[in-house]
Amino acid sequence: MTRTLRLSGLEPFVLTPDIPFVNVGERTNVTGSARFRKLITNRDYAAALEVARDQVENGAQIIDINMDEGLIDSRAAMVEFLNLIASEPDIARVPVMIDSSKWEVIEAGLQCVQGKPVVNSISLKEGEEAFRHHAALCLAYGAAVVVMAFDETGQADTYQRKTEICARAYRILTEEMGFPPEDIIFDPNVFAVATGIEEHNNYGVDFIEATRWIRTNLPHAHVSGGVSNLSFSFRGNEAVREAMHAVFLYHAIQAGMDMGIVNAGQLAVYDQIDPDLREACEDVVLNRRPDATERMLEVAERFRGGAKEEKVRDLQWRDWPVEKRLEHALVNGITEFIEADTEEARLAAERPLHVIEGPLMAGMNVVGDLFGAGKMFLPQVVKSARVMKQAVAVLLPHMEAEKDGTSQAAGKVLMATVKGDVHDIGKNIVGVVLACNNYQIIDLGVMVPPQKILEVARAEKVDIIGLSGLITPSLDEMVHLAAEMEREGFDIPLLIGGATTSKVHTAVKIATRYTRGPAVYVTDASRAVGVVSSLMSTTQKTPYVQALREEYAEVAARHERSERAKQRVPLQAARANALRLDWADYAPPAPQFTGPRVVDDWDLAEIARYIDWTPFFQTWELKGVYPKILQDEAQGEAARQLFADAQEMLARIIAERWFRPRAVVGFWPAQSLGDDIVLFSGEDRVHPLATLHTLRQQTAKRDGRPNVALADFVAPAGVARDWVGGFVVTAGPEEQEVAARYERANDDYGAILVKALADRFAEAMAEMLHERVRREFWGYAPAESYAPEELIGEPYAGIRPAPGYPAQPDHTEKRTLFHLLDAERTTGVTLTESMAMWPGSSVSGLYIGHPKSYYFGVAKVERDQAEDYARRKGMDLAEAERWLAPILNYQPAPAVDRVA
Ligand code: SAH
Repeated sequence: MTRTLRLSGLEPFVLTPDIPFVNVGERTNVTGSARFRKLITNRDYAAALEVARDQVENGAQIIDINMDEGLIDSRAAMVEFLNLIASEPDIARVPVMIDSSKWEVIEAGLQCVQGKPVVNSISLKEGEEAFRHHAALCLAYGAAVVVMAFDETGQADTYQRKTEICARAYRILTEEMGFPPEDIIFDPNVFAVATGIEEHNNYGVDFIEATRWIRTNLPHAHVSGGVSNLSFSFRGNEAVREAMHAVFLYHAIQAGMDMGIVNAGQLAVYDQIDPDLREACEDVVLNRRPDATERMLEVAERFRGGAKEEKVRDLQWRDWPVEKRLEHALVNGITEFIEADTEEARLAAERPLHVIEGPLMAGMNVVGDLFGAGKMFLPQVVKSARVMKQAVAVLLPHMEAEKDGTSQAAGKVLMATVKGDVHDIGKNIVGVVLACNNYQIIDLGVMVPPQKILEVARAEKVDIIGLSGLITPSLDEMVHLAAEMEREGFDIPLLIGGATTSKVHTAVKIATRYTRGPAVYVTDASRAVGVVSSLMSTTQKTPYVQALREEYAEVAARHERSERAKQRVPLQAARANALRLDWADYAPPAPQFTGPRVVDDWDLAEIARYIDWTPFFQTWELKGVYPKILQDEAQGEAARQLFADAQEMLARIIAERWFRPRAVVGFWPAQSLGDDIVLFSGEDRVHPLATLHTLRQQTAKRDGRPNVALADFVAPAGVARDWVGGFVVTAGPEEQEVAARYERANDDYGAILVKALADRFAEAMAEMLHERVRREFWGYAPAESYAPEELIGEPYAGIRPAPGYPAQPDHTEKRTLFHLLDAERTTGVTLTESMAMWPGSSVSGLYIGHPKSYYFGVAKVERDQAEDYARRKGMDLAEAERWLAPILNYQPAPAVDRVA
């Protein structure tokens, strides 16, 4: 019996042996076609139908339809579009491929199409049970299936994983379920090649070889793939993309690929591709030589779509003398020729060291001057540093051969993120900037215990220690380290930086504990060079430190005066002036579920649309609001370059799935009880599950304003039924590995960029999830509809206050939240001893629904509240004081020597 894949639209489609390859039209896919997405978003279905018609006319034998997009109700759009197609005979004559990552959308689609469609896709992603369930329904509806090579641990990227997963799926489908093998179409995942990341080089080969294996070993099954992923890094260069696709298909079809999602109107013919281009494509697709990507990039430039290309690169500088070229490359951050130029300079120089001390340092000095003069900005400097590092990497082996020793550094700086803290973007930027000013950096990384810092400082005889931290408990860690330095007799400068640090804190809490040497607050990376060079200068150091001490004494005194001038009220009076919301005008609806629920249907492209870019520019010390900053007179060019680099990386993060976002969200029946919020295990609100503790403002208020605590926004017993929610989202730990790869390639710029983007993903996820909570999970604002960019101003009802931030400065509340959500197990996010979330690109918070809730700050607390709070939390006073240290408005009793 011959087993043949038979599909149908209005007409039958039989995959007989004389059809070597089935074109599946890809243009009716909102994730792949910006135009189609726009048409669907604008509900222009007439034009959308034309897209489908064009595909069929251009030879698509099946059309793939995908409506997975955040702003679209994908299920409704799928149903509507399929119903419309049904009445267009010249479209409906071909079979449909119902494409969605959401099963409910697929099933809704199955209920619309007549004939025999293909479901795209099912997989082992959520385990065997879900897989069987979906497969059984496909059988019931009489659909063929695309099975993606995806299992519980993720998408298959190697030959080994691809074949194993496909074999496993095949066995379940055919042996256990009686699925007709000819109705199985495997998609072994086409990934982008020539991305610059070595691990990706073999993706083409892995696909082709897996295809060959499947066709040989899994009888009657077919192989398909989304071809355009392959050439993602050449977006904008259509000529090259088409050539890559044609070359890839040529080889994959020979290996047995018999179906593919392609742009049917746009396929180059293998034999007609320019031979140079074809060879370059082949090298890349078949991973034939280590420099394939570089060569491909060169060739790609030449074939860049003719007339449309407006940017003719000015390569005149290539004719300049080598010293000038090196300087030009450094100032402009161009790595393309740096290895060749450095080598040329080395051959001309007497010793390799002279190249560093000569033209390279001269170039970096120009960079330093421009930066100092405000003509260059941080991202540009970090790019220059990358050029420098790659040049030095060329010279280094020769210097070792000569036993030349490295050049004399201007000074040794030890950098570390303190114990319990994980954030290091700012620290890494400072390190790079100092390194390119010829300081030697010893970077101990994150979560560094104080003893390690002091040990290395002593052993390496460093000139300066720089500490970094993001969260408030790190402030206390820094105070502790300062005291240890004093005790152990250090007198070298101590630099303090990071999000919660400040000049006041450094002056009041750190400089007072470390008197033997200077403690200096460094506002931002662009100041670091100035501060360090002053501290290293034999002539400037003394006057600089003297002036600093005077300034800090003044800052501390001023701070104390202003704190004393602030009127504070006792806790009792503050409570008497609590916010009293009228619960008669707000009856919270019940959430869809109580307890925790994992949310794992994250689409990286969709998350990206929720990114707030303004903080991204802040990370790079470009100060202004996106998108206006792109037009800024001074910073605009730097901002545009940075943004373009970010977009390019973003596209790859999405196409190659660099991150694996995870999230958990939960709701619980809740009542406020004084300044606490009690959560219950059931709607009867009888059995308490946990207690959240909140702090109350103690500043004296005028104008009848209340002294708020977060508990005020939750209904007390007997007034209304209320709930409180909580969440943890993370972009995942993958950023670390990607960043490490960039670092190994001497590319700190890329390493910092990927971390900054991972942070953006986590924040965007928090925003997206909050929207879903309001509209769906809690559902108190089902009709809300804002564009992603409108959400940045948080115009919606309800808040998501984060423990450790101004409304609840106590980070330990995260313990309760994590416990309630079983967050470590469900998201992989863990808490350090300082309550920092690891991985760093994670966000957590509570959900409060009352439409009149808002953010506020608990600036300082008095002893009476600290004592009361310690009692409520079941902590002894000293422990509570340690967590509340940054906000105590009194000097706590000196702590008994802490255990490090
Ligand atoms: N669009 C920004 C949003 C992050 S900050 C970005 O992408 O970086 C906004 C979040 O910080 C709020 O949603 C809330 O979770 C938290 N937040 C802000 N003010 C707060 C406060 N006073 N107390 C507690 N959490 C606060």
